[in-house]
Amino acid sequence: MRFSGFRVLQQALTGHKGWGALWRDPAPKPAYDIIIVGGGGHGLATAFYLAKTFGQARIAVLEKGWLGSGNIGRNTTIIRSNYLLPGNQPFYEFSMKLWETLEQEVNFNAMVSQRSIINLFHSDGQRDAYRRRGNAMHLTGAGGELLSQDQLREIVPFLNFDNARFPIKGGLRQSRAGTARHDGVAWGYARAADQLGVDLIQHCEVTGFLIEGGRVQGVQTTRGDIRAPKVGVAVAGSSSRVMERAGLRLPIESHVLQAFVSEGLKPNIPGVITFGAGHFYISQSDKGGLVFGGDIDGYNSYAQRGNLDVLQDVAQGGMALMPMIGRARLLRSWGGIMDMSMDGSPIIDRTPVEGLYLNAGWCYGGFKATPASGYAFAHLLATDRPHETATAYRLDRFHRGYVIDEKGVGAQPNLH
Ligand SMILES: Cc1cc2nc3c(=O)[nH]c(=O)nc-3n(C[C@H](O)[C@H](O)[C@H](O)COP(=O)(O)OP(=O)(O)OC[C@H]3O[C@@H](n4cnc5c(N)ncnc54)[C@H](O)[C@@H]3O)c2cc1C
Repeated sequence: MRFSGFRVLQQALTGHKGWGALWRDPAPKPAYDIIIVGGGGHGLATAFYLAKTFGQARIAVLEKGWLGSGNIGRNTTIIRSNYLLPGNQPFYEFSMKLWETLEQEVNFNAMVSQRSIINLFHSDGQRDAYRRRGNAMHLTGAGGELLSQDQLREIVPFLNFDNARFPIKGGLRQSRAGTARHDGVAWGYARAADQLGVDLIQHCEVTGFLIEGGRVQGVQTTRGDIRAPKVGVAVAGSSSRVMERAGLRLPIESHVLQAFVSEGLKPNIPGVITFGAGHFYISQSDKGGLVFGGDIDGYNSYAQRGNLDVLQDVAQGGMALMPMIGRARLLRSWGGIMDMSMDGSPIIDRTPVEGLYLNAGWCYGGFKATPASGYAFAHLLATDRPHETATAYRLDRFHRGYVIDEKGVGAQPNLH
Protein backbone atom coordinates (compact mmCIF):
# COMPACT_ATOMS: atom_id res chain seq x y z
CA MET A 1 0.00 0.00 0.00
CA ARG A 2 1.28 3.47 -0.86
CA PHE A 3 0.62 6.15 1.71
CA SER A 4 -0.93 9.41 0.54
CA GLY A 5 -3.34 12.12 1.65
CA PHE A 6 -6.02 10.37 -0.39
CA ARG A 7 -5.35 7.11 1.49
CA VAL A 8 -5.72 8.83 4.86
CA LEU A 9 -9.02 10.34 3.77
CA GLN A 10 -10.28 7.03 2.40
CA GLN A 11 -9.37 5.21 5.62
CA ALA A 12 -10.93 7.95 7.76
CA LEU A 13 -14.22 7.47 5.91
CA THR A 14 -14.13 3.67 6.20
CA GLY A 15 -13.31 3.32 9.91
CA HIS A 16 -9.54 2.85 9.52
CA LYS A 17 -10.05 -0.88 8.89
CA GLY A 18 -7.80 -1.12 5.83
CA TRP A 19 -4.37 -0.40 7.28
CA GLY A 20 -2.07 -3.41 7.13
CA ALA A 21 1.09 -4.24 9.07
CA LEU A 22 4.02 -2.01 8.11
CA TRP A 23 6.31 -4.97 7.45
CA ARG A 24 6.27 -8.77 7.33
CA ASP A 25 7.48 -10.95 10.19
CA PRO A 26 9.57 -13.56 8.34
CA ALA A 27 11.38 -16.52 9.88
CA PRO A 28 15.15 -16.40 9.32
CA LYS A 29 16.37 -18.27 6.24
CA PRO A 30 19.49 -20.46 6.49
CA ALA A 31 21.53 -18.12 4.26
CA TYR A 32 21.56 -14.61 2.80
CA ASP A 33 23.90 -12.59 0.57
CA ILE A 34 24.24 -9.83 3.15
CA ILE A 35 23.37 -9.77 6.85
CA ILE A 36 23.02 -6.49 8.73
CA VAL A 37 23.31 -6.83 12.51
CA GLY A 38 21.22 -4.20 14.33
CA GLY A 39 17.75 -2.93 13.44
CA GLY A 40 18.33 0.67 14.47
CA GLY A 41 18.27 3.64 12.15
CA HIS A 42 21.63 2.90 10.57
CA GLY A 43 21.03 -0.82 10.03
CA LEU A 44 17.60 -0.26 8.48
CA ALA A 45 18.83 2.59 6.28
CA THR A 46 21.72 0.41 5.12
CA ALA A 47 19.36 -2.41 4.16
CA PHE A 48 17.09 0.02 2.31
CA TYR A 49 19.89 1.58 0.24
CA LEU A 50 21.46 -1.83 -0.42
CA ALA A 51 18.20 -3.01 -1.97
CA LYS A 52 17.06 0.23 -3.59
CA THR A 53 20.21 1.98 -4.76
CA PHE A 54 22.77 -0.78 -5.02
CA GLY A 55 20.46 -3.49 -6.40
CA GLN A 56 21.40 -6.12 -3.82
CA ALA A 57 19.07 -9.01 -2.96
CA ARG A 58 18.79 -11.63 -0.22
CA ILE A 59 19.38 -9.20 2.63
CA ALA A 60 18.44 -9.73 6.29
CA VAL A 61 18.46 -7.31 9.21
CA LEU A 62 18.85 -9.12 12.54
CA GLU A 63 17.63 -7.20 15.58
CA LYS A 64 17.89 -8.52 19.13
CA GLY A 65 14.87 -6.55 20.38
CA TRP A 66 12.27 -4.83 18.23
CA LEU A 67 12.93 -2.43 15.37
CA GLY A 68 13.59 1.03 16.75
CA SER A 69 14.12 -0.09 20.36
CA GLY A 70 17.62 1.40 20.53
CA ASN A 71 18.93 4.92 20.16
CA ILE A 72 16.97 5.61 17.01
CA GLY A 73 13.88 5.82 19.22
CA ARG A 74 15.63 7.52 22.14
CA ASN A 75 17.34 10.56 20.67
CA THR A 76 16.37 14.22 20.79
CA THR A 77 15.63 14.21 17.05
CA ILE A 78 18.02 16.97 15.94
CA ILE A 79 19.23 16.94 12.34
CA ARG A 80 21.88 19.39 11.11
CA SER A 81 25.01 19.65 8.98
CA ASN A 82 26.89 22.42 10.77
CA TYR A 83 30.26 20.66 10.98
CA LEU A 84 33.73 22.12 10.55
CA LEU A 85 36.30 19.56 9.44
CA PRO A 86 36.78 18.28 5.88
CA GLY A 87 36.32 14.64 6.98
CA ASN A 88 32.92 15.44 8.47
CA GLN A 89 31.24 18.41 6.80
CA PRO A 90 30.66 16.88 3.31
CA PHE A 91 29.29 13.69 4.90
CA TYR A 92 26.77 15.48 7.13
CA GLU A 93 25.73 17.77 4.26
CA PHE A 94 25.16 14.67 2.13
CA SER A 95 22.97 13.39 4.97
CA MET A 96 21.04 16.66 5.10
CA LYS A 97 20.34 16.43 1.38
CA LEU A 98 19.04 12.88 1.85
CA TRP A 99 16.82 14.07 4.72
CA GLU A 100 15.29 16.63 2.38
CA THR A 101 13.93 13.93 0.06
CA LEU A 102 13.63 11.05 2.54
CA GLU A 103 9.87 11.08 3.01
CA GLN A 104 9.23 10.86 -0.75
CA GLU A 105 11.95 8.24 -1.11
CA VAL A 106 10.51 5.87 1.51
CA ASN A 107 6.86 7.03 1.20
CA PHE A 108 6.53 7.64 4.93
CA ASN A 109 5.80 10.72 7.02
CA ALA A 110 8.90 11.00 9.21
CA MET A 111 7.92 14.55 10.20
CA VAL A 112 11.14 16.03 8.86
CA SER A 113 10.92 19.66 9.88
CA GLN A 114 13.61 22.13 8.78
CA ARG A 115 12.89 24.56 11.58
CA SER A 116 16.58 25.66 11.95
CA ILE A 117 19.24 25.39 14.60
CA ILE A 118 20.95 28.28 16.38
CA ASN A 119 24.27 27.71 18.17
CA LEU A 120 24.67 30.57 20.64
CA PHE A 121 28.02 32.21 21.32
CA HIS A 122 28.99 34.05 24.45
CA SER A 123 32.43 35.50 23.78
CA ASP A 124 34.41 37.07 20.95
CA GLY A 125 36.59 33.97 20.65
CA GLN A 126 33.54 31.75 20.31
CA ARG A 127 32.08 34.09 17.69
CA ASP A 128 35.26 33.77 15.63
CA ALA A 129 35.14 29.98 15.92
CA TYR A 130 31.52 29.95 14.74
CA ARG A 131 32.35 32.29 11.87
CA ARG A 132 35.02 29.82 10.77
CA ARG A 133 32.57 26.96 11.08
CA GLY A 134 29.98 28.91 9.06
CA ASN A 135 32.54 29.45 6.32
CA ALA A 136 33.33 25.72 6.25
CA MET A 137 29.60 25.03 5.96
CA HIS A 138 29.31 27.35 2.97
CA LEU A 139 32.01 25.41 1.18
CA THR A 140 29.67 22.40 0.94
CA GLY A 141 26.49 24.41 0.35
CA ALA A 142 25.19 23.73 3.86
CA GLY A 143 24.38 27.42 4.39
CA GLY A 144 24.73 29.20 7.71
CA GLU A 145 24.52 32.77 8.91
CA LEU A 146 25.92 34.66 11.85
CA LEU A 147 23.20 36.41 13.85
CA SER A 148 23.78 39.47 16.00
CA GLN A 149 22.34 39.82 19.46
CA ASP A 150 19.66 42.20 18.12
CA GLN A 151 18.60 39.68 15.47
CA LEU A 152 18.44 36.97 18.12
CA ARG A 153 16.32 39.10 20.43
CA GLU A 154 13.66 39.21 17.71
CA ILE A 155 13.68 35.46 17.08
CA VAL A 156 14.10 34.10 20.62
CA PRO A 157 13.25 36.96 23.01
CA PHE A 158 12.85 34.63 25.99
CA LEU A 159 16.59 33.86 26.27
CA ASN A 160 18.61 35.27 29.14
CA PHE A 161 20.71 37.66 27.03
CA ASP A 162 22.14 39.66 29.91
CA ASN A 163 23.17 36.77 32.13
CA ALA A 164 26.16 38.23 34.03
CA ARG A 165 28.19 35.05 33.65
CA PHE A 166 27.14 33.82 30.19
CA PRO A 167 25.89 36.86 28.21
CA ILE A 168 24.51 35.86 24.80
CA LYS A 169 26.34 37.80 22.08
CA GLY A 170 24.92 36.15 18.97
CA GLY A 171 24.54 32.84 17.21
CA LEU A 172 25.28 30.73 14.16
CA ARG A 173 22.08 29.65 12.42
CA GLN A 174 21.61 26.87 9.93
CA SER A 175 18.11 27.32 8.55
CA ARG A 176 18.01 23.92 6.83
CA ALA A 177 18.60 22.08 10.12
CA GLY A 178 15.75 21.00 12.38
CA THR A 179 14.11 17.86 13.70
CA ALA A 180 12.58 14.60 12.44
CA ARG A 181 10.41 12.10 14.25
CA HIS A 182 13.03 9.60 15.39
CA ASP A 183 11.06 6.35 15.48
CA GLY A 184 9.18 7.42 12.33
CA VAL A 185 12.54 7.34 10.56
CA ALA A 186 13.09 3.74 11.67
CA TRP A 187 9.58 2.73 10.64
CA GLY A 188 9.88 4.48 7.28
CA TYR A 189 13.15 2.78 6.38
CA ALA A 190 11.89 -0.56 7.72
CA ARG A 191 8.68 -0.50 5.71
CA ALA A 192 10.46 0.57 2.54
CA ALA A 193 13.19 -2.07 2.95
CA ASP A 194 10.58 -4.76 3.61
CA GLN A 195 8.74 -3.80 0.43
CA LEU A 196 12.01 -4.31 -1.46
CA GLY A 197 12.25 -7.86 -0.10
CA VAL A 198 14.58 -7.35 2.87
CA ASP A 199 13.85 -9.79 5.73
CA LEU A 200 13.53 -7.82 8.99
CA ILE A 201 14.00 -10.38 11.75
CA GLN A 202 13.22 -9.16 15.24
CA HIS A 203 14.06 -10.88 18.53
CA CYS A 204 17.11 -12.45 16.93
CA GLU A 205 20.28 -11.62 18.85
CA VAL A 206 23.64 -12.20 17.21
CA THR A 207 25.71 -14.12 19.74
CA GLY A 208 28.79 -14.89 17.67
CA PHE A 209 30.36 -14.97 14.21
CA LEU A 210 31.15 -17.91 11.98
CA ILE A 211 34.72 -17.22 10.87
CA GLU A 212 36.82 -19.66 8.86
CA GLY A 213 40.32 -18.87 7.64
CA GLY A 214 40.01 -15.21 8.55
CA ARG A 215 36.80 -14.87 6.52
CA VAL A 216 33.29 -14.39 7.87
CA GLN A 217 30.83 -17.14 6.88
CA GLY A 218 27.81 -15.97 8.82
CA VAL A 219 26.53 -15.38 12.34
CA GLN A 220 25.38 -17.38 15.34
CA THR A 221 22.07 -16.14 16.72
CA THR A 222 19.49 -16.99 19.34
CA ARG A 223 17.46 -18.39 16.42
CA GLY A 224 20.24 -20.53 15.00
CA ASP A 225 23.18 -20.05 12.65
CA ILE A 226 22.61 -17.92 9.55
CA ARG A 227 25.20 -17.92 6.80
CA ALA A 228 26.30 -15.00 4.60
CA PRO A 229 29.54 -14.01 2.87
CA LYS A 230 29.08 -10.39 3.99
CA VAL A 231 28.06 -9.20 7.45
CA GLY A 232 27.64 -5.52 8.35
CA VAL A 233 27.49 -4.62 12.04
CA ALA A 234 25.53 -1.46 13.01
CA VAL A 235 24.70 -1.95 16.69
CA ALA A 236 25.62 1.53 18.03
CA GLY A 237 26.08 1.36 21.84
CA SER A 238 26.68 -2.40 21.70
CA SER A 239 29.49 -2.19 19.12
CA SER A 240 32.35 -3.18 21.46
CA ARG A 241 30.42 -6.10 22.90
CA VAL A 242 29.34 -7.48 19.53
CA MET A 243 32.70 -7.03 17.78
CA GLU A 244 34.46 -8.66 20.71
CA ARG A 245 32.74 -11.85 19.56
CA ALA A 246 34.68 -11.55 16.31
CA GLY A 247 37.90 -11.11 18.29
CA LEU A 248 38.14 -7.36 17.68
CA ARG A 249 38.81 -4.69 20.31
CA LEU A 250 37.42 -1.32 19.21
CA PRO A 251 38.55 2.27 19.92
CA ILE A 252 35.12 2.86 21.48
CA GLU A 253 33.74 3.42 24.98
CA SER A 254 30.04 3.13 25.80
CA HIS A 255 28.45 5.91 27.86
CA VAL A 256 24.87 6.84 28.79
CA LEU A 257 23.19 9.93 27.36
CA GLN A 258 19.90 11.12 28.79
CA ALA A 259 17.01 13.00 27.20
CA PHE A 260 14.26 15.00 28.92
CA VAL A 261 10.76 16.06 27.87
CA SER A 262 8.51 18.56 29.65
CA GLU A 263 4.73 18.69 29.77
CA GLY A 264 3.10 20.00 26.59
CA LEU A 265 3.24 23.79 26.25
CA LYS A 266 1.99 26.24 23.63
CA PRO A 267 4.36 26.75 20.66
CA ASN A 268 7.24 28.82 21.89
CA ILE A 269 10.64 27.62 20.70
CA PRO A 270 10.99 28.20 16.96
CA GLY A 271 13.77 25.69 16.21
CA VAL A 272 16.68 24.01 17.93
CA ILE A 273 18.78 26.16 20.28
CA THR A 274 22.13 25.16 21.75
CA PHE A 275 23.75 26.91 24.71
CA GLY A 276 27.39 27.75 24.00
CA ALA A 277 28.56 28.16 27.58
CA GLY A 278 27.59 24.71 28.79
CA HIS A 279 26.15 21.59 27.28
CA PHE A 280 22.44 22.18 26.85
CA TYR A 281 20.23 21.98 23.76
CA ILE A 282 16.48 22.34 23.37
CA SER A 283 13.67 22.19 20.85
CA GLN A 284 9.90 21.81 21.09
CA SER A 285 8.06 18.80 19.77
CA ASP A 286 4.91 19.09 17.67
CA LYS A 287 2.98 17.90 20.75
CA GLY A 288 4.35 20.90 22.67
CA GLY A 289 6.84 19.16 24.96
CA LEU A 290 10.19 20.85 25.45
CA VAL A 291 12.76 18.27 24.36
CA PHE A 292 16.19 18.87 25.84
CA GLY A 293 19.45 17.31 26.94
CA GLY A 294 23.08 17.91 27.78
CA ASP A 295 26.21 15.96 28.56
CA ILE A 296 26.73 12.22 28.67
CA ASP A 297 26.83 10.73 32.16
CA GLY A 298 30.62 10.50 31.91
CA TYR A 299 31.30 6.94 33.03
CA ASN A 300 31.31 3.72 31.06
CA SER A 301 27.99 1.91 31.14
CA TYR A 302 25.63 -0.31 29.16
CA ALA A 303 22.57 0.73 31.19
CA GLN A 304 19.81 2.55 29.32
CA ARG A 305 19.21 4.93 32.22
CA GLY A 306 21.18 7.75 33.78
CA ASN A 307 21.83 9.51 37.05
CA LEU A 308 20.40 12.51 38.84
CA ASP A 309 23.59 14.61 38.87
CA VAL A 310 23.37 14.93 35.07
CA LEU A 311 19.72 15.89 35.38
CA GLN A 312 20.82 18.65 37.77
CA ASP A 313 23.57 19.79 35.39
CA VAL A 314 21.16 19.88 32.44
CA ALA A 315 18.57 21.77 34.50
CA GLN A 316 21.23 24.32 35.51
CA GLY A 317 22.18 24.82 31.86
CA GLY A 318 18.51 25.34 31.00
CA MET A 319 18.00 27.84 33.79
CA ALA A 320 21.08 29.83 32.77
CA LEU A 321 19.88 29.98 29.17
CA MET A 322 16.14 30.50 29.57
CA PRO A 323 14.96 30.91 33.18
CA MET A 324 11.32 30.42 32.16
CA ILE A 325 12.06 26.71 31.80
CA GLY A 326 11.99 26.53 35.61
CA ARG A 327 8.20 26.85 35.42
CA ALA A 328 7.81 23.80 33.17
CA ARG A 329 7.24 20.37 34.70
CA LEU A 330 9.41 17.50 33.58
CA LEU A 331 7.28 14.71 32.16
CA ARG A 332 9.72 12.03 31.05
CA SER A 333 13.42 11.20 30.89
CA TRP A 334 15.33 8.22 29.56
CA GLY A 335 18.82 7.14 28.56
CA GLY A 336 20.53 5.50 25.60
CA ILE A 337 23.93 3.87 25.19
CA MET A 338 26.38 5.94 23.15
CA ASP A 339 29.21 4.36 21.17
CA MET A 340 31.77 7.10 21.92
CA SER A 341 34.78 6.93 19.60
CA MET A 342 38.17 8.29 20.58
CA ASP A 343 37.86 11.41 18.39
CA GLY A 344 34.11 11.89 18.43
CA SER A 345 33.76 10.91 14.75
CA PRO A 346 32.33 7.67 13.37
CA ILE A 347 33.73 4.55 11.74
CA ILE A 348 32.40 3.11 8.44
CA ASP A 349 34.95 0.59 7.30
CA ARG A 350 36.02 -2.95 6.64
CA THR A 351 37.56 -4.89 9.51
CA PRO A 352 40.56 -7.25 9.67
CA VAL A 353 38.06 -10.13 9.26
CA GLU A 354 37.35 -10.49 5.53
CA GLY A 355 33.67 -9.89 4.76
CA LEU A 356 32.95 -8.29 8.15
CA TYR A 357 32.14 -4.56 8.01
CA LEU A 358 31.67 -2.04 10.81
CA ASN A 359 29.44 1.00 11.23
CA ALA A 360 29.96 2.54 14.69
CA GLY A 361 31.30 5.39 16.82
CA TRP A 362 28.33 7.72 16.31
CA CYS A 363 28.59 9.17 19.81
CA TYR A 364 25.49 11.27 20.46
CA GLY A 365 25.26 12.63 16.91
CA GLY A 366 24.28 9.62 14.87
CA PHE A 367 20.61 10.38 14.31
CA LYS A 368 21.28 13.19 11.86
CA ALA A 369 23.71 10.88 10.09
CA THR A 370 21.18 8.06 9.60
CA PRO A 371 20.54 8.54 5.84
CA ALA A 372 24.18 9.16 4.86
CA SER A 373 25.46 6.45 7.18
CA GLY A 374 23.07 3.93 5.66
CA TYR A 375 23.96 5.04 2.16
CA ALA A 376 27.72 5.01 2.75
CA PHE A 377 27.63 1.66 4.55
CA ALA A 378 25.54 0.16 1.74
CA HIS A 379 28.05 1.55 -0.76
CA LEU A 380 30.90 -0.09 1.14
CA LEU A 381 29.09 -3.42 1.49
CA ALA A 382 28.05 -3.51 -2.16
CA THR A 383 31.24 -2.24 -3.82
CA ASP A 384 33.96 -2.82 -1.22
CA ARG A 385 34.97 0.81 -1.64
CA PRO A 386 34.17 3.68 0.77
CA HIS A 387 31.63 6.27 -0.33
CA GLU A 388 33.31 9.52 -1.37
CA THR A 389 31.95 11.40 1.69
CA ALA A 390 33.04 8.71 4.15
CA THR A 391 36.65 8.06 3.18
CA ALA A 392 37.98 9.50 6.45
CA TYR A 393 35.96 7.16 8.68
CA ARG A 394 38.64 4.47 8.78
CA LEU A 395 38.91 2.04 11.67
CA ASP A 396 42.70 2.28 11.73
CA ARG A 397 42.89 6.09 11.80
CA PHE A 398 43.59 6.16 15.54
CA HIS A 399 46.50 3.81 15.02
CA ARG A 400 47.81 5.84 12.04
CA GLY A 401 47.26 9.25 13.65
CA TYR A 402 44.59 10.57 11.25
CA VAL A 403 41.96 11.40 13.87
CA ILE A 404 39.02 13.68 12.99
CA ASP A 405 38.90 15.70 16.18
CA GLU A 406 35.84 17.85 15.41
CA LYS A 407 35.56 19.22 18.94
CA GLY A 408 39.27 19.69 19.47
CA VAL A 409 39.45 17.85 22.79
CA GLY A 410 41.75 15.01 21.77
CA ALA A 411 41.30 11.32 22.44
CA GLN A 412 38.84 11.83 25.30
CA PRO A 413 35.54 10.08 24.58
CA ASN A 414 33.94 11.48 27.72
CA LEU A 415 34.58 15.04 26.47
CA HIS A 416 33.15 14.74 22.96
C1 LIG B 1 19.28 10.63 24.64
C2 LIG B 1 19.86 10.67 23.26
C3 LIG B 1 19.78 11.82 22.51
C4 LIG B 1 20.35 11.87 21.23
N1 LIG B 1 20.14 12.99 20.48
C5 LIG B 1 20.59 13.03 19.19
C6 LIG B 1 20.27 14.14 18.35
O1 LIG B 1 19.52 15.04 18.75
N2 LIG B 1 20.78 14.16 17.10
C7 LIG B 1 21.57 13.16 16.64
O2 LIG B 1 22.05 13.27 15.50
N3 LIG B 1 21.83 12.06 17.38
C8 LIG B 1 21.35 11.96 18.65
N4 LIG B 1 21.59 10.84 19.42
C9 LIG B 1 22.43 9.76 18.88
C10 LIG B 1 21.69 8.82 17.95
O3 LIG B 1 20.45 8.45 18.49
C11 LIG B 1 22.57 7.58 17.72
O4 LIG B 1 23.89 7.96 17.36
C12 LIG B 1 22.03 6.68 16.60
O5 LIG B 1 20.65 6.46 16.77
C13 LIG B 1 22.79 5.35 16.61
O6 LIG B 1 22.52 4.55 15.48
P1 LIG B 1 21.27 3.51 15.39
O7 LIG B 1 20.05 4.30 15.17
O8 LIG B 1 21.57 2.52 14.36
O9 LIG B 1 21.33 2.89 16.83
P2 LIG B 1 20.28 1.94 17.59
O10 LIG B 1 18.87 2.38 17.35
O11 LIG B 1 20.74 1.83 19.00
O12 LIG B 1 20.46 0.57 16.81
C14 LIG B 1 21.35 -0.46 17.17
C15 LIG B 1 20.52 -1.71 17.29
O13 LIG B 1 21.37 -2.84 17.42
C16 LIG B 1 20.69 -3.78 18.21
N5 LIG B 1 21.65 -4.76 18.72
C17 LIG B 1 22.58 -4.61 19.68
N6 LIG B 1 23.25 -5.76 19.89
C18 LIG B 1 22.73 -6.66 19.02
C19 LIG B 1 23.01 -8.03 18.75
N7 LIG B 1 23.95 -8.70 19.42
N8 LIG B 1 22.25 -8.67 17.81
C20 LIG B 1 21.29 -8.01 17.13
N9 LIG B 1 20.99 -6.71 17.35
C21 LIG B 1 21.70 -6.05 18.27
C22 LIG B 1 20.06 -2.94 19.30
O14 LIG B 1 18.98 -3.61 19.93
C23 LIG B 1 19.60 -1.72 18.51
O15 LIG B 1 18.26 -1.80 18.09
C24 LIG B 1 21.04 10.74 20.70
C25 LIG B 1 21.09 9.58 21.45
C26 LIG B 1 20.48 9.52 22.71
C27 LIG B 1 20.52 8.25 23.51
